[in-house]
Amino acid sequence: MLDIGSMTPEEIAVRLTEMGQPAYRAGQIFRWIHSGTGSFDKMTDLPAALRQELEKKFVIYSIKIDKKLVSPGDNTVKYLYRLHDGETVESVVMHYKHGSSVCISSQVGCKMGCGFCATGLGGFTRNLTASEMLAQIMAAKKDLSIDINHAVLMGMGEPLDNFEALSRFLTLVSHPQGLAISRRHISVSTCGLVDGIYKLMETKPQCTLSVSLHAPDDELRSRLMPVNRRWNIKELLDACRRFTKETGRRVSFEYALIKDLNDAEEQAVRLAALLRGMKAHLNLIPMNAVKETPYRKSDRKRIMCFFKVLTNAGINVTIRRTLGADIGASCGQLRGKSPNNTDI
Ligand code: SAH
Ligand code: SF4
Repeated sequence: MLDIGSMTPEEIAVRLTEMGQPAYRAGQIFRWIHSGTGSFDKMTDLPAALRQELEKKFVIYSIKIDKKLVSPGDNTVKYLYRLHDGETVESVVMHYKHGSSVCISSQVGCKMGCGFCATGLGGFTRNLTASEMLAQIMAAKKDLSIDINHAVLMGMGEPLDNFEALSRFLTLVSHPQGLAISRRHISVSTCGLVDGIYKLMETKPQCTLSVSLHAPDDELRSRLMPVNRRWNIKELLDACRRFTKETGRRVSFEYALIKDLNDAEEQAVRLAALLRGMKAHLNLIPMNAVKETPYRKSDRKRIMCFFKVLTNAGINVTIRRTLGADIGASCGQLRGKSPNNTDI
């Protein structure tokens, strides 16, 4: 069975022609699927015989809301979705002044093993298809009856480790007959897969690249993030500079402040030196403590001091609003608590 939700209208048209059907139906089918229609039955402007044919050849991977938590503080909504094979992934919808943004997952679990991350602790199960990434946005849109105009791949999984599906997702999510979210409003977050950054750059993605840095030196970064043993900070920052040069898009760095580990003034000085001269934005995030790990959130005083050092050094830096911290909105935290989840 073909996963029709991961296909472009052109690819659907080729299949229709093979089936002896008119190619123009592809646009209709594409619009139905990308407006969240989960079955061919409901595509009422298609002939009944065609709908039956489609059912035999194609599958629409829909997802179900398994759990939903709304943060009383800021209306951030966190979903645990159940996929067609029973696996679960998380998404978070955040509301800003400029509209609503959804944070989606790209894999069930993750291979990268970052020591502070709830997803990393659970290991890897499988890649998501492009259609499963899109379905997370469609389901949230439908459930909340809102328009979603920004998407970040910062949920569970490492998007650059699922490159083929990521490329398809970027094509489909921005398609004018689909969700039509501008690629400029999409951020791809990576722990630092340097080969993936170069590959992404070659596709002229027009999206923002977000890099999880979390340490100002290789010794500490390798301890926190095993990927740093494969590509060190210099190689990573070289790739980021190239990305900006080739695409014109600035890179955004994420730095989660961990109590007494990466939050000292001297480390802020080192971080400033690394980022000086780059067309970059730095996001400081208070660590969302995961129970099973030894890492805890920095004190407010240390966060402010860290921030000040970077600002004074001329770095474009913000402290990220911790949306939905009261509902465990850090990746992997809700899934870890799901009673139906057997693999964590
Ligand atoms: N795999 C990608 C994207 C998913 S993780 C990546 O690592 O970038 C999304 C972001 O959440 C990353 O910046 C990651 O470092 C961060 N993160 C993971 N666990 C966290 C935690 N417990 N507290 C704060 N940020 C965390
Ligand atoms: Fe994977 Fe990102 Fe978590 Fe690291 S932080 S384990 S790369 S999801």
